[in-house]
Amino acid sequence: MSKYFDKKYNGLMPYTPGEQPRGEENVLKLNTNENPFIPGANVLKAVREKELMDLRLYSDPDCRALNAAIAKSYGVKENCVFTGNGSDEVLAFCFMAFGEKGIAFADMTYGFYPVFANLFNVKAQIIPLRADFSLAPEDYADFNGTVLIANPNAPTGICLDLTQIESLLEQNKDRLVIIDEAYVDFGGESAVSLTKKYENLLIVQTLSKSRALAGVRLGFAIANEALINDLNTVKFCFNPYNINALTQYVGIAAFKEDDYYAYTKNEIIKARTYTAEAMKALGFTVFDSKANFIFAGNHSKISGEEYFRKLRAENIIVRHFDTPRESTYIRISIGTMKQMKRFIEATKTILEEKANA
Ligand SMILES: *Cc1c(COP(=O)(O)O)cnc(C)c1O
Repeated sequence: MSKYFDKKYNGLMPYTPGEQPRGEENVLKLNTNENPFIPGANVLKAVREKELMDLRLYSDPDCRALNAAIAKSYGVKENCVFTGNGSDEVLAFCFMAFGEKGIAFADMTYGFYPVFANLFNVKAQIIPLRADFSLAPEDYADFNGTVLIANPNAPTGICLDLTQIESLLEQNKDRLVIIDEAYVDFGGESAVSLTKKYENLLIVQTLSKSRALAGVRLGFAIANEALINDLNTVKFCFNPYNINALTQYVGIAAFKEDDYYAYTKNEIIKARTYTAEAMKALGFTVFDSKANFIFAGNHSKISGEEYFRKLRAENIIVRHFDTPRESTYIRISIGTMKQMKRFIEATKTILEEKANA
């Protein structure tokens, strides 16, 4: 830390992204929930010489064509869409815009929420998940600030249904409920349709997972016009050109190939079912996941930390969170069926070596 760094940042704990190996051969990367499939054909054609020559111009600060493509895809009005540089940026704007009365979120959830709370000086109201890691909407009934829920949740993959989301919205119509649907396309029920009925609902989604575009950095919010205006007010005070021109082209293309992403989603769901069944058969506890990862562990013969290390020695990278409630588990991103077979084979070898040691 330099002597110039503002004192108020003394206690900041930055988010730790999962390892991004560069240049290592034969690494199986199952740690950051990326999509194992390449982006679709429209995306691969979206940026050609013309688009590159247009880079001398600023990108559209209103993202009109992009927001229109998203609005069309979800059947909402164009002024009900806001786009961010990754959904992380959308969430950051939410913390800036809607954090005054504090923001409630689970003790086990996306690790960026407490980081944002810290940075933006928002009071974090931590609501523990139940013993089975389920989230009970009634646990939020007494809180008057903003509620933030990842649905499906990370790292568990457990998903609330729309009735439960509605009960949260009904509990208190004067508070905002933000649903982070980063993983909803892998089998969850999106609450986007409820944004027309509830003016206290804001949905956040991303193209990083189900649309195989983590590197392009594009996320979005869908909510009623007044909430979207608030996000725009913050954005235009911070970074009006938050979505670069190439990302806007790519994003528009990605909303014109839903069939391809539906196909890759189904492949991932098949590989998820295979992986979960195989792990249960090997003696792991596996939570019912509606996301493109599974949370598994609590094995009688191996700790989460040792399992993580032994997989890494086999060139397989998964995620391990070293908190009291999470440390007996690992989170495994779901790849292709071939990749998951390699993962299961490696797991069998690790368990056999433990048994023979
Ligand atoms: C991956 C993830 C995000 C962030 O995605 P971006 O790449 O920034 O769009 C947001 N929320 C959750 C729960 C995630 O897992």
